[in-house]
Amino acid sequence: MIDYLIVGQGVAGSFLAWHLLKQNKRVVIIDNNHEQSSSIICIGMINPITGKRFVLTPQFDEFYTYAQNIYQELEQIFDTQFFIKKPVLRIVKNEFEHSELNKKYQSQELHKYFQTLNAPDTYKPVLDDSLGSTLITPGGLCHTELLLNTLKNYFQNKNILINEKLSYDDIKIKNESVQYRDEHFRKVIFCEGYQSQFNPWFSKLPFNHAKGEIMRIKIDDDTSLPDAIINKGKWCAPFGNNEWAVGSNYIWDNLDCEPTKEGRQEILEGLNQYMTKNYTVIKHQAAVRPIMKDQNPILRMHSKYPNLGIFNGLGSKGFLMAPYYAKLFSNILLKKEK
Ligand SMILES: Cc1cc2nc3c(=O)[nH]c(=O)nc-3n(C[C@H](O)[C@H](O)[C@H](O)COP(=O)(O)OP(=O)(O)OC[C@H]3O[C@@H](n4cnc5c(N)ncnc54)[C@H](O)[C@@H]3O)c2cc1C
Repeated sequence: MIDYLIVGQGVAGSFLAWHLLKQNKRVVIIDNNHEQSSSIICIGMINPITGKRFVLTPQFDEFYTYAQNIYQELEQIFDTQFFIKKPVLRIVKNEFEHSELNKKYQSQELHKYFQTLNAPDTYKPVLDDSLGSTLITPGGLCHTELLLNTLKNYFQNKNILINEKLSYDDIKIKNESVQYRDEHFRKVIFCEGYQSQFNPWFSKLPFNHAKGEIMRIKIDDDTSLPDAIINKGKWCAPFGNNEWAVGSNYIWDNLDCEPTKEGRQEILEGLNQYMTKNYTVIKHQAAVRPIMKDQNPILRMHSKYPNLGIFNGLGSKGFLMAPYYAKLFSNILLKKEK
């Protein structure tokens, strides 16, 4: 019997599989070629302080330690850089943000994350920063597509990846195991991202998934721009060769993965509020963030079918939080086995 069937090879399923394999568990992963994966289109940005009120992500230091550990481990094993450290240049957008930043900058708890408090027009004429800005660390970006495809190849070479869509009708729940087609598994863990809303065993959970769009642009000449993730409501982030990613928006009422005209307009209008350089849009994508109503990730087994589990709800911070929660969930699963 195989120990685990993991459904979905986004960041949640990949890292959970990684930890279980490290504990010598027999694992099979099924993924429909990253179709509609939010992990693959996002840029895995990590930023400790977010929002209009400059709020520190709870448990940030702990999450970041786990994230750094796994990205460094994978970089060594695959001899490839996946995570790039970059500060976040947060440009003040309005008077409210200005007063919040001045308050938060003084706070003992947050002080270590703010590197500088920049005077208005520090970056003029390259950027519009007329109300000032602050440089925040530690931050960074992830080459998400490269990371997930590297792991996909690794799982494929080990012959443990099935490239297809799992059909719920092919699952048969037994007393001590779960049958999927001809194979028997001790447990099935669904890491399906927003497609969890169609899962017959977990669809009643309080999801609040949100669609988001992202663009890739080529900036004619980006040499004078700061080498940072720049954020003034809408963010842009450098990926080399004049290519930048720009995002994003939140849509709750139309959960598909189609880019929209309105989304493009909203994001580019936001970018144009501070970017003075000429650019061309080269790609426009959309996906759905898996979010729970209480905004906390969910990792647990089904109350009635203890051989079925779910790992979901990583929200907008999957690349910061998945390393921690995947390790935690694998520890919980292994403990239950004993
Ligand atoms: C526009 C946008 C910007 C974002 N920016 C950031 C950011 O900067 N930083 C950050 O950390 N996070 C960001 N996120 C959030 C991040 O993408 C998510 O938190 C994370 O990727 C969720 O990972 P997941 O593995 O749970 O889901 P997914 O990445 O969606 O993976 C689910 C996988 O399961 C597969 N699947 C589903 N159902 C089945 C089935 N029945 N059979 C087979 N396979 C199946 C899917 O194809 C997919 O590959 C962003 C999201 C969006 C949409």
